[in-house]
Amino acid sequence: MKIWRELLILVIIFGLIWLAFTWRPLSIPGTDLRLSKEREKDLAELIMDDLQDQYEFYDDSVTSKILGPITRRLLDSLSPQRYEYKFHLLDDSHEINAFATLDGNIYVFSGLLKFVDNPEQLAGILAHEIGHHENGDLVDRLMKELGLSVLAAVLTGGDAVMISEISKLLLSSGFDRKQEREADEFAYQLMVKSQINPSRLAHFFTKLKTEEKSYPDDLEIIMTHPNSKNRIEGALSYNLPEGFEEQPFDFDWEEIVTSVL
Ligand SMILES: [Zn+2]
Repeated sequence: MKIWRELLILVIIFGLIWLAFTWRPLSIPGTDLRLSKEREKDLAELIMDDLQDQYEFYDDSVTSKILGPITRRLLDSLSPQRYEYKFHLLDDSHEINAFATLDGNIYVFSGLLKFVDNPEQLAGILAHEIGHHENGDLVDRLMKELGLSVLAAVLTGGDAVMISEISKLLLSSGFDRKQEREADEFAYQLMVKSQINPSRLAHFFTKLKTEEKSYPDDLEIIMTHPNSKNRIEGALSYNLPEGFEEQPFDFDWEEIVTSVL
């Protein structure tokens, strides 16, 4: 009899633990628990306005001349797409960074263009950022760090300070290791589909590690946390499909970068 009672208590405890991990309220009066597509788009626009106050944006013609051939190759290999992607080029030659905000927006600093050795390396970084979008990491992160009520307040009140904080948050690294690993994995797959060797990303990370000691270590693409060695090895040892051959971009990268930046 006693053993049955203990068993019952155990079952109840397990049941409660299961509930604690899986229970989500279905609705909270007056709010909706998801960041709707429309709200995400509105918030993305507010963030872009804020970034436009802080940085000089290159003209669309320059941006598409430099990034167009790379992003076209990546997006042609990506189907279905969660977003209509928009790439922006920001003028700051000291920032070796790229980051994603919301609603398919990806920002690249001119410092990154000057730092990479070739367009294939940049393609790898952009593929990683697309990965964060496709995996829903951006919305997840904002919901986790700020919560829907804050985001909703920002959207209705348009609080400039708060929007600026959100931009800063997205500029810095803050994804967890699982999200970074999955964005890397996504990038390798997209690179292979786009006929770019994932080892290009490893070369980029190695270059960052060896050549650039002075960069702040909290930028989205740098990720100097302890697994950076694993990331390099991961990119180098990615299992290429049989018969894979890289198709290098057929333009002079240095010439384009120096002529327009
Ligand atoms: Zn990342």
